[in-house]
Amino acid sequence: MNSLDGQVAIVTGASRGIGAAVARLLAARGAKVVINHRASADASVALAAEIKAAGGEALVVQADVSVVEEAAALVKATLSAYGRIDILVNNAGTTRDNLIMMMKEADWDAVITTNLKSVYNCSKAVLRPMLKQRSGRIINITSVVGLSGAAGQTNYAASKAGIIGFTKSLAKEVGSRQVTVNAIAPGFIPTALTEVLPEEARQQAIAMTPLGRLGTGEDIAEAVAFFASPGASFITGQVLSVDGGLVMQ
Ligand code: NAP
Repeated sequence: MNSLDGQVAIVTGASRGIGAAVARLLAARGAKVVINHRASADASVALAAEIKAAGGEALVVQADVSVVEEAAALVKATLSAYGRIDILVNNAGTTRDNLIMMMKEADWDAVITTNLKSVYNCSKAVLRPMLKQRSGRIINITSVVGLSGAAGQTNYAASKAGIIGFTKSLAKEVGSRQVTVNAIAPGFIPTALTEVLPEEARQQAIAMTPLGRLGTGEDIAEAVAFFASPGASFITGQVLSVDGGLVMQ
């Protein structure tokens, strides 16, 4: 028996990159997976087909999770299709890097709303059914940058540090109903998000990583699957770095 048999998981921003790897693994472990995207419909439909071909269950739901009504609609669509929600993976994210003196207000706002407000929007929407069923797992994808900071990423680092404060606070609010809230801080993972960075940044990340390599979406997905698993039922309010040792707290 797979550890997530019969469970229902929403993965935000699952059309590619880390989110797609998470959706694949949760489905392989037996969860019915809701693949959320904002714009990449074709990739999401292809991923759902791949999961179904492998014997899993998946549903594609378009929603811009930075918009409160759309996040609520994502949760509503999940409940209509599957009747419950056990796992929420707040993964959707973006960057608009610049030094603060050059950073436009629109770039600050876009990153904060996409990365942080979306976590409020989706978490709040899933909490009603989770509190009622007295179980649930909320897993937030933060970043090592939220722990260490990074020049040129004040907006991104603030959003990711905000997710950590949110995670710990919500864990305290909902623990009595057996809903756990944890965060994962990935290191450098080659995806569309990081492909804009120069090769020099990639080599620098490898040099600073004790395990001597970049991560993969699967590395992050394994940690998500652990937090979602029955074995993690006594863990809440934690931030797990999955970064090859890049940042040690
Ligand atoms: P990615 O390949 O760019 O994927 C981002 C995903 O988020 C896409 O599926 C995108 O879908 C979706 N998305 C963006 N805005 C959205 C919105 N408003 N509503 C719904 N979906 C939205 O990025 P990634 O590297 O996999 O990153 C995933 C998460 O990991 C992010 O939170 C990121 O900050 C975090 N992270 C990444 C790294 C890394 O090195 N890659 C390191 C640390 C943390 P659409 O194309 O449809 O918009």
